[in-house]
Amino acid sequence: MAVKQVQIIGGGLAGCEAALFLANCGFPVTLYDMKPDQYTDVHTQESLAELVCSNSFRSDSLANAVGLLKAEMRLMGSAVMDAADWTRIPAGSALAVDRVKFSQFLTERILGHPDIQFISKEVTEFEPDESGIYTILAPGPLATIGLTTFLRKLTGESYLKFYDAIAPIISRDSIDEKKTFMASRYDKGGADYLNCPMDQETYMAFYRQLIDAETVILHGFEKGGKLFEGCLPVEEIARRGLDALRFGPLKPVGLRHPETGDVFHGVVQLRAEDREGQYFNLVGFQTHLKQGEQRKVFRMIPGLENAKFERYGSMHRNTFINSPELLNADFSMKKFPSLFVVGQISGVEGYLESAASGLIAAVSIVMREKGIENRAFPETTMLSGLSRYISTPKANFQPSNAIFAMVPAPETRIRGGRRVRREFLSNRALTALKIFIDKNPVLVN
Ligand SMILES: Cc1cc2nc3c(=O)[nH]c(=O)nc-3n(C[C@H](O)[C@H](O)[C@H](O)COP(=O)(O)OP(=O)(O)OC[C@H]3O[C@@H](n4cnc5c(N)ncnc54)[C@H](O)[C@@H]3O)c2cc1C
Repeated sequence: MAVKQVQIIGGGLAGCEAALFLANCGFPVTLYDMKPDQYTDVHTQESLAELVCSNSFRSDSLANAVGLLKAEMRLMGSAVMDAADWTRIPAGSALAVDRVKFSQFLTERILGHPDIQFISKEVTEFEPDESGIYTILAPGPLATIGLTTFLRKLTGESYLKFYDAIAPIISRDSIDEKKTFMASRYDKGGADYLNCPMDQETYMAFYRQLIDAETVILHGFEKGGKLFEGCLPVEEIARRGLDALRFGPLKPVGLRHPETGDVFHGVVQLRAEDREGQYFNLVGFQTHLKQGEQRKVFRMIPGLENAKFERYGSMHRNTFINSPELLNADFSMKKFPSLFVVGQISGVEGYLESAASGLIAAVSIVMREKGIENRAFPETTMLSGLSRYISTPKANFQPSNAIFAMVPAPETRIRGGRRVRREFLSNRALTALKIFIDKNPVLVN
């Protein structure tokens, strides 16, 4: 059987990861990037796999979800992790790199690889289901207008978004549930929401802190960007007037305390993030507030005084597709199975997560071509968690970093606190991944 060709559009973190994995497995790869002739608003280096902002890949600890993702990627022979480990600089428990050396390391690997042809070109269209060829689309969150226009035609008008709006996620064991109650508005459906009620005095104090809190500095290309009325930052809603929040994310109507029958001045609703209900997101709390300010202000909400943030809220200029509608778990399109969409544009968030999605797509192509039926990563792994996240239907799909809410809860109660519990989840994942790799020697490149 002839080895299929793979074309990859975008030589960022996801594209480079996929290109090197596939080429190392013997697949002929053509990688397109518009650099060095053309740049997005944030890319400045000539080399590929550019880190556009921070030079940190965040925590390297197994008590952290992205630490687990790193460990899994290292086991899978990730080129991005290899480059990061070679160009690492001291940064405590974080994995930070020399950004120029990191990017050069991967660029040299790409340009020097006998099975990779690099073409410098802006791609604005392609054949989505050309026979004998796989396409991996990895143009990043600032993909060019020419390409996004084409993607919009391919996926449908409503499937492409240009701003993300991420609400914070809090671990349930840090919520004081004596101060909250479970209910749905007007008792519709089950008692699915965890509600944090506020009296007028608490509401006023919260409102004042929220409008005075410090926000992050926006990048030049994000300033003046039009925000959708339906997903304004929570602090922006508050600035519109004293009661604006009470008609928005703190709307109290239809929410009575199930035991006392009390009604409230404002109610913050939290919705479960995972099947087991270990993590909850603050509904409608997308925000530009700095992380320290989020801790300070959101801990004023009754029941959240000791809240532990699994993920902070944020808002970015970010092009991404409605993946749960469009993609399979291996990041291939439901409509065009030989077309994969990876990286930040697929709805994962972060350098490592972007690279991981490229790896997942590359692994799927290798396994498909080797005729392996059971291609899914073990469900306890973070790689599987990311796959599930982008392919499971959600009411309002928003990009996400790797978080422990993406993997199944422990089968039994783990004592010893949050760190011990997380390390248990990591060790469980790594054991399962080692077995998966042993069973699939084609993946060792
Ligand atoms: C301003 C900003 C700051 C960020 N900061 C961080 C951070 O600090 N930490 C973090 O973890 N994540 C950060 N992210 C999020 C995300 O992790 C990065 O954007 C990450 O680089 C995404 O990887 P990617 O491979 O999807 O895309 P990219 O790394 O952006 O790569 C995409 C590549 O595609 C090329 N390209 C685009 N359009 C075309 C086209 N039509 N034809 C050919 N080539 C094309 C580009 O030149 C680029 O090289 C940030 C994002 C932005 C926008």
